[in-house]
Amino acid sequence: PPARGSAVRDAFLSFFRDRHGHRLVPSASVRPRGDPSLLFVNAGMNQFKPIFLGTVDPRSEMASFRRVANSQKCVRAGGRHNDLEDVGQDLSHHTFFEMLGNWAFGGEYFKEEACSMAWELLTQVYRIPKDRLWVSYFGGDPKTGLDPDLESRDIWLSLGVPASRVLAFGPQENFWEMGDTGPCGPCTEIHYDLAGGAGAPQLVELWNLVFMQHNREADGSLQPLPQWHVDTGMGLERLVAVLQGKHSTYDTDLFSPLLSAIQQGCGAPPYSGRVGAADAGRVDTAYRVVADHIRTLCVCIADGISPGMTGAPLVLRQILRRAVRFSMEILRAPPGFLGSLVPVVVESLGAAYPELQKHSAQVPNLVSEDEAAFLASLQRGRRIIDRTLRRLGPSDLFPAEVAWSLSLSGNLGLPLDLVELMLKEEGVRLDTAGLERLAQEEAQHRAQHAEPVQEQRLRLDVHALGELRRRGVPPTDDTPKYNYCL
Ligand code: ATP
Ligand code: MG
Ligand code: MG
Ligand code: MG
Repeated sequence: PPARGSAVRDAFLSFFRDRHGHRLVPSASVRPRGDPSLLFVNAGMNQFKPIFLGTVDPRSEMASFRRVANSQKCVRAGGRHNDLEDVGQDLSHHTFFEMLGNWAFGGEYFKEEACSMAWELLTQVYRIPKDRLWVSYFGGDPKTGLDPDLESRDIWLSLGVPASRVLAFGPQENFWEMGDTGPCGPCTEIHYDLAGGAGAPQLVELWNLVFMQHNREADGSLQPLPQWHVDTGMGLERLVAVLQGKHSTYDTDLFSPLLSAIQQGCGAPPYSGRVGAADAGRVDTAYRVVADHIRTLCVCIADGISPGMTGAPLVLRQILRRAVRFSMEILRAPPGFLGSLVPVVVESLGAAYPELQKHSAQVPNLVSEDEAAFLASLQRGRRIIDRTLRRLGPSDLFPAEVAWSLSLSGNLGLPLDLVELMLKEEGVRLDTAGLERLAQEEAQHRAQHAEPVQEQRLRLDVHALGELRRRGVPPTDDTPKYNYCL
């Protein structure tokens, strides 16, 4: 079986092309074309949406697609599939990842062939031991009256998967939807047991096989699609981890060059893979966040999305500022450090996605500009905090109005959780009740008057405030990062 990440990707593509007659198509840009329901391309199927909906131009090349396969650049930050908050905290979610997929359009093949091809690839080509694989199928949904997908269950049983490793899951897991509207259907998934018999199974989801049968309409109803289709997606990073015998996508050759470059660039202690409470000092979390985010930044910028003020650009700016914070505050990176990682990303992904080689020259500049702007805001913020502290009594709370101006009105663009952190360092408590009152007043005001852009900014902040209150404790670095008001 192939070992290096790039060989694993190639083996997937040649399996579907050479053994099963699929045509290989390039990855679409991560910038959705003509689809306002999406911030970023979040799955391999996105570019085929017109086929699913039956709206494909009959003169286009796509109209002739029957069996295709590819490796799609995906970004899951913001929108329905939003994994931004998980990144750094776990060992399997990324904001950017590669999705390996195969498709059968218009009934070219359906459940049985799709499952047996997937099983053949995993167990014969990649040689994953069968007893480490579990499957799940759609167990139905009494609330909406959707039937269980017993056909998929029976297919797995006939392929030799023991009933004890065939699980029925609910709509949350096994009814796949691209966005709030769009093509959808029941799915069946293949999971890998990391524990491998040693103790309770520890499943990581590898591959999703979706049977597109419905369209979710704007009113929430399901309408049948004109034809049925197979749509599958498997995360390359997770597959490579399994094949390299690792529990973490970060321990594969897809990430290790980046982790070493981060260590060299920052002079930080080496990455040691700790998560959660074990990661005291949050150094390993910071490594993961920085490695993940710089890949996303490179891919998005090369596809023409730059950090900005609304929509996908706003999400990208949040990602950039998160990377700046983690690298500077925890890893003690020197200024300009993030830009120095760009060649490492291009080296790792440029062969599979040539657009990265072509368009990466501007990435370091864009990253450095925003990094500098953020640092300038930080400095100004510190000065304002110092000035305010000088006129406070020993038991006074830090005034909500000032904190607010650091984030929104003063347009300093500092995340509220960061402001809290800075105040905590000064040993002063923030008037959170006052802050929340302000946020609510502003929200009401803007709901009545403002343009959509401002509403969006405000929503981000209100979310953060709710979070602060819910936790009842000053936030730390892992407070959800939706509060990057710009
Ligand atoms: P999970 O339950 O782990 O969040 P998912 O069910 O949201 O995954 P799907 O939408 O089914 O994922 O996508 C198909 C495959 O893409 C998954 O089985 C997984 O291998 C991979 N994948 C999904 N999200 C991510 C991510 N954020 N980072 C890396 N790989 C991912
Ligand atoms: Mg998910
Ligand atoms: Mg899942
Ligand atoms: Mg899934």
